[in-house]
Amino acid sequence: MSPAFPERGLADPDILEWLAAERSRDLAPDGRAFAFVYDAGEPVRALARDAFAACMGANGLDPTVYPSVRAIERRLVRACLDIARAKSEAVGTATAGGTESVMLAVKSARDHARAARGVARPKMLLPETAHASFHKAAHYLGVEVVPVAVGPDFRALPEDAKQKMDENVVLVVGSAPSYAHGVVDPIPELAQIARDYGALCHVDACVGGLVLPFLRHVRPVPEFDLSVEGVTSLSMDLHKYGFAPKGASVLLMARPELRDAHYFACAQWSGYAIVNSTTLGSKSVAAHGAALAVLLKLGRQGFSAAAEKTWAAAELLMDRIERAPGLSLLARPDMPLVAFTTAAAPGRPAGDVFELADRLAAEGWYVQPTYRFGSSPAHIHLTLNPQNAAQVEVFAADLERLSSDLSPAEGPEEMAALFDGLTESSIPSLMAGLGITEGRLPERSAPIHRLLDAAPPPVRERLLSAFVGALFS
Ligand SMILES: *Cc1c(COP(=O)(O)O)cnc(C)c1O
Repeated sequence: MSPAFPERGLADPDILEWLAAERSRDLAPDGRAFAFVYDAGEPVRALARDAFAACMGANGLDPTVYPSVRAIERRLVRACLDIARAKSEAVGTATAGGTESVMLAVKSARDHARAARGVARPKMLLPETAHASFHKAAHYLGVEVVPVAVGPDFRALPEDAKQKMDENVVLVVGSAPSYAHGVVDPIPELAQIARDYGALCHVDACVGGLVLPFLRHVRPVPEFDLSVEGVTSLSMDLHKYGFAPKGASVLLMARPELRDAHYFACAQWSGYAIVNSTTLGSKSVAAHGAALAVLLKLGRQGFSAAAEKTWAAAELLMDRIERAPGLSLLARPDMPLVAFTTAAAPGRPAGDVFELADRLAAEGWYVQPTYRFGSSPAHIHLTLNPQNAAQVEVFAADLERLSSDLSPAEGPEEMAALFDGLTESSIPSLMAGLGITEGRLPERSAPIHRLLDAAPPPVRERLLSAFVGALFS
């Protein structure tokens, strides 16, 4: 496929062959990826593929022209309301993903507070461990973020939230659980603080919404859902533990007027009447159709079996990590998300956690290197799912072996000097120095991660944008 746009059309097999070759280099659902992949096996994938194809032609822009869009969304939302133990007046909207659910929850809170309480300078209370999509929402929507501190267990501190609360706060956020550490914030306490001021309270159950409810009969699950007094909205991603293709999440609202506050209607132009329930105009509902298909196929029993199996694997893995000299867990999670790092062992200092990630990658394991922030150190994040759960024994053995002789990370001091001298014009040579050239990443990524980890967050943000720009150039 050399010319950017071919003069004569290519043959179907040639096009598909090119796509297949490119796709073959991606993370595969083979049970060796411990991030990004949420996989319940081939029979589930097969149904999702068929359902996705069946819904490809529908346009969610106008649910009066495509009644299937209404039918699919209503059934999907009702199932999720049931799972989240919502009261009878609750409603919901199908969205394109967790970020969109979060952005709409923030828009709803902002517009609701403006209309109901005349709040002109909106703020939101956001635990340090909350997902970055809330910062994105704040940035897009002009809402100020007031950070809420977390304790040593990485759960938000209600005392700190209470102290920072005032009349301009439109939304108090809690995670169920936070992505990095897998712990559930004290939702009933946060919701009460919001209620005291007439503010809304959003529970981010993007990653936990389809796992926590199905673990209640195997372990104590903290209160987090729409049955909690004062919780006004909840987000739940179907394209994570709902095992759906990307493009499916729901935003559930305790009352219809809160949902209406995230709608957007426009009659200020010469074309068709606009009323959008989400941020997109013309939109695919294929992933929603696939998500509904998977929910119906698995049912409560199927989701419980998946959650239990995955949790059992997480417990095994955590035990092995706790017993391994040179490794330590960051937290005891409420669901199968595991954060661990390197630690000093008898006779040797803590090894380089990013080097460990590279060693695992060389053995065919994909793990998620994560940078330090606040009280959370640089670490490796593992997302377990029913497929990689079957591999944890082998993975744990590799982890023990590969972490037994790690050297410590070298000099972050030199890096500080590098950041001080950083200018827009020095970034390209920095990229080249790290081996990022012609849109390709180097084999080893530890040097890149060490640099980003050492960078203060604002510098890290500039470097991340530069990296991605370089990759797409
Ligand atoms: C994944 C995630 C999000 C954002 O979801 P996307 O689907 O990636 O946009 C928000 N919150 C939490 C806790 C998540 O895990």
